[in-house]
Amino acid sequence: MADLINELVWSHSRSRTFAACPRAYWYTYYGSWGGWSRDVPAPIRDAYVQKKLTTRAMWIGTVVHGAAEEGIRRIVGQRPLDLEAAVRTTLTRARNDIEGSRTGDWLQRAAKRTGFREHYYGEPVDPSAWEAAIAEIERQVRGLYENRIFRRIGQVPGRVMEVEELRRFRVGSTEVYAALDVLMADGNGGVVIIDWKTGEAHSNDEIAAQLGVYGIYATQELGVPTDRVKAMHVNLRHAVETTHAVGPAAIEAAREEIEAGVTQMREKLRDVPGNVAEREDYPMVPEGDSRCRWCSFRRSCARET
Ligand code: SF4
Repeated sequence: MADLINELVWSHSRSRTFAACPRAYWYTYYGSWGGWSRDVPAPIRDAYVQKKLTTRAMWIGTVVHGAAEEGIRRIVGQRPLDLEAAVRTTLTRARNDIEGSRTGDWLQRAAKRTGFREHYYGEPVDPSAWEAAIAEIERQVRGLYENRIFRRIGQVPGRVMEVEELRRFRVGSTEVYAALDVLMADGNGGVVIIDWKTGEAHSNDEIAAQLGVYGIYATQELGVPTDRVKAMHVNLRHAVETTHAVGPAAIEAAREEIEAGVTQMREKLRDVPGNVAEREDYPMVPEGDSRCRWCSFRRSCARET
């Protein structure tokens, strides 16, 4: 296999990590690079394993998104799952995730399997919290299958254009990654982006930024007119839906945000074409900062206590 090249490609999550802590950003995109191999120095492998860690809250979202993706792919492939089968399969996988992380088996294939920060760091967790997480997954998968948008997709599977496809495209001076939960044709020359939300309410700014990037993709890469892009957020935790038009203003704001963000990221590089970053250029947050308490990299940073 050809060597992978570490490129600076903008994404929403990269931008969030950059804003959260410079050192966490360095570990995520540079200090852990190559750690999927066992033949790397221990600090790189450790950072890679830490980068892969999840938490119960994040994992609920991952598992429910996986159930939605599989459910829609099966609808499109005319092999739909019924609700009880979907719940059974999802919960079996969820329990396997917990067990694989608890025993440490997940480290055999850290790239593909689930490892919890709670286990890695020995965080005290009441056993009932794991059962509560499983119950929340079941509740949300049932909510998904009963949701009117999900049911509507089942009635018009031919309109599904994309499900969780990782797309890479150019915006100004940079490449960008984005993956839409579901992209549907609206039947009138426009598109509807469906975004499942599984956690607490998201800020309007965050939603607008994400939608703007999706809008760039739909207009620039698919040729959809700017006034024909609509987005629906379906919050499965609270059973709430919101619809947004993604207009020229949101798209332009996203272009500006991407350009400004990538400029800041490049300014910290020692070698921009080579995408070379040195750890000392990415400071840790001050000692005692609450961000360290739950950070995945606190072992690499020697900030465990
Ligand atoms: S432990 Fe603290 S300093 Fe280190 S990466 Fe995490 S937030 Fe940043």
